Amino acid sequence: MKINKSHSFKNKRVLLRVDFNVPLDKNFNVVDDSRIIAAAPTIKKIISSGGKVILISHLGRPKHFEKRYSLKNIVNHTSSVLGLRVKFYEKCVGAGAVRQSLMLKAGEVLLLENLRFNPEEAKGDVVFAKKLAELADFYINDAFGVMHRKHASNYVVARYFPQKKFFGNLVVSEIKNLTLLLKKPKKPFTAIIGGAKISGKIDVIESLLNKVDNLIIGGGMAYTFIKSAGGETGISIVEKEKLGLAKSIIEQAKEKGVKLFLPVDSVNAAELKNSSKKHVSAINKIKHNHMGLDIGPKSIVLFNKVITSSKTIVWNGPMGVFEMNNFAIGTKKIGSAVCKATKNGAFSFIGGGDSVSAIKKFKLTKKVSYISTGGGAMLKYLEGKKLPGIIAIEN
Ligand code: AMP
Repeated sequence: MKINKSHSFKNKRVLLRVDFNVPLDKNFNVVDDSRIIAAAPTIKKIISSGGKVILISHLGRPKHFEKRYSLKNIVNHTSSVLGLRVKFYEKCVGAGAVRQSLMLKAGEVLLLENLRFNPEEAKGDVVFAKKLAELADFYINDAFGVMHRKHASNYVVARYFPQKKFFGNLVVSEIKNLTLLLKKPKKPFTAIIGGAKISGKIDVIESLLNKVDNLIIGGGMAYTFIKSAGGETGISIVEKEKLGLAKSIIEQAKEKGVKLFLPVDSVNAAELKNSSKKHVSAINKIKHNHMGLDIGPKSIVLFNKVITSSKTIVWNGPMGVFEMNNFAIGTKKIGSAVCKATKNGAFSFIGGGDSVSAIKKFKLTKKVSYISTGGGAMLKYLEGKKLPGIIAIEN
């Protein structure tokens, strides 16, 4: 259920599941606050209708308390994003947490400690979920990034709030934008898939083959495709056990009339180091002791043409090792092509941690249509799977 405009949370405690899994530096300062900013509209909505906000989130994947994963580290930053003083309590369930929730006044925000300090969270433990439910009158899920998981705080807990559970603004907008991709996308529709490996992206690639006109494959995974077609890939990252699958994807694309674009050239080096001397070769003629780390200039021209003539674009995964400046050009140029297409009226959707980091690194965030906060959740949605977090609110 969506929160409608007239809904009032006056004097009610609202348990709000957010995704504050933000990167911290070595002094535990927030490096990228996009996820906090993305959750702000829902928090403000609850406050403006007189409600009390109880924020729950995970940070990292700890199994027990660890200072670097404490949400206490982000209290001040969250306060400054929201423009109010956020309270903090060192546990997320139990008598103390319930007491803190009952002490809240209308308009106040309480952040509870990292859910994952309790192993019950990731196990979807019912007793733990029930304890979370004791904290509030309403439940809102605005953590799109974990919608594909069946954890206690984003799936199980919802059953204790019949008729009193909602999607937050961020989740609503993620679903709205994903729907633009899946229902009647403007043609030509192009998917750009990159990143290190095919594993983890097979289902989404196969599902996209039923929807797109063009499929561009770049990044490390391209070398598995090239190898499967008999190319010489040197010591590039090739998934030997996925060679058959790569072949089958090439076949499926042909059968379905999808134009599959693979890189034609590659930027190579002997070592995975920014300082390593680089040179360009045809993608299927990489020297035996070299690895491909970025797409080459001819591939950029080829991909650019396809992208700039598209009307709908979805992009997941970088074209090379963009974290190293010497191997970032392909990803940067592809990012610019996506922005150019957007300027010409295309709808562009970027998702997945690394593609989003790349778009941020190249300062292109404002030039694309939508940047998803979900990696795994977004891929699952694109595969056509109903996400557990969505089912839990809708049922
Ligand atoms: P993924 O999480 O699968 O989207 O992969 C993202 C990672 O893939 C990034 O950290 C990139 O550095 C890495 N990557 C991209 N291209 C290559 C390549 N040619 N060889 C090795 N790693 C790559």
